Amino acid sequence: MTATRPPIKVAVLGATGAVGQTFVRLLQGHPWFELAEVAASERSAGRAYVDVTRWIEGEMPSAVAALTVQACDPSAVTSPIVFSALDSNVAGEVEAAFAAAGRLVLSNAKNYRMDPDVPLVIPEVNADHLALLDGQRARRGWTGGIVTNANCAATMAAVALAPLHAAFGARRVFAATMQAVSGAGYPGVPSLDILGNVIPFIGDEEPKIEREMQKMLGVVSTSGVTPAPFVVSAHANRVAVENGHTICLSVEFDRAPTLDEAAQQLRTWRGHAAVHGLPSAPEVPLQFFESDDRPQPRRDVGRGRGMTVSVGRLRRDPLFHLKFVAMGHNTIRGAAGGSILNAELLVATGRAGAR
Ligand code: NAP
Repeated sequence: MTATRPPIKVAVLGATGAVGQTFVRLLQGHPWFELAEVAASERSAGRAYVDVTRWIEGEMPSAVAALTVQACDPSAVTSPIVFSALDSNVAGEVEAAFAAAGRLVLSNAKNYRMDPDVPLVIPEVNADHLALLDGQRARRGWTGGIVTNANCAATMAAVALAPLHAAFGARRVFAATMQAVSGAGYPGVPSLDILGNVIPFIGDEEPKIEREMQKMLGVVSTSGVTPAPFVVSAHANRVAVENGHTICLSVEFDRAPTLDEAAQQLRTWRGHAAVHGLPSAPEVPLQFFESDDRPQPRRDVGRGRGMTVSVGRLRRDPLFHLKFVAMGHNTIRGAAGGSILNAELLVATGRAGAR
């Protein structure tokens, strides 16, 4: 896309929440997209964004503060590209209504992720899965469409696993997460539940981690996605970290790699070429650490403006073949930043079709 084309107007649904606010921050000064509309529940609709939003990080952009919050209704929100940070209780109906009305919806909710005709995409990992959009439009009679990004913990694990699976074929994956409080939205987990504590349960999180990676690392064809043939066992824990989900992984492969072979894959992986140079693409999508004490949320969560997944502690696993740790920013790489990168890829490859 050339710099001389006018920006594409975009909207954020669920703009008042934790992920919605991250969209608002990341879209400020975006070279291709102009945030024209914000929408949320009936509780917020009709009021100024500044009056209904408890802004979490830094200063609220003044251009957005004065916008009137719209209802999540395609007759009230007219932008051709719509980023959805809606709660899953409402995302199903609302996102379908926008897609049927000709809008391209970039969803963060779980509702459509596993539908066979809906792309579930981390651009560096499976940019080619966006081809599902053509069949989705034909089958559902939509002129718009829905593209989803994955559960935030599954995203970090899938990026770490992608180069190793491609080279050695993952067979069994054990994943134990330590997930930040911002993953629970705002206001999220009560302070007395989480300060000085670990909560060994996150509602509906483990099934998502156990099924979404196989779709993303699967093979796409005209008949859909053949999931990658590995099994995942997940333990999800909430910890007192502000931003950044950490996942400890143990993996068995079809062919056991040496530590050097695995390190070489992780060190050199740059992801799908179609993504290189897009405005939100980090230069290094996977940062591999050789040192013993990384990655850490405090030190590494901001890498690549929150879009880099950090991986380290690669070592032999006495049960499986290898173990390692992955960590990344849950509301940026795992949500809003991932969605914006998906939209950039759709525009760059001529699939946005909504201008
Ligand atoms: P959140 O902070 O609770 O925000 C929820 C948003 O949905 C708010 O803007 C809220 O608007 C809106 N909403 C609630 N009920 C609605 C209704 N009936 N109609 C229209 N809008 C309604 O949640 P979040 O953490 O940002 O998560 C948003 C979505 O992203 C969820 O599906 C979540 O699973 C997913 N996700 C979150 C993360 C993360 O790290 N937090 C990562 C990946 C994916 P009001 O302010 O008007 O109530």
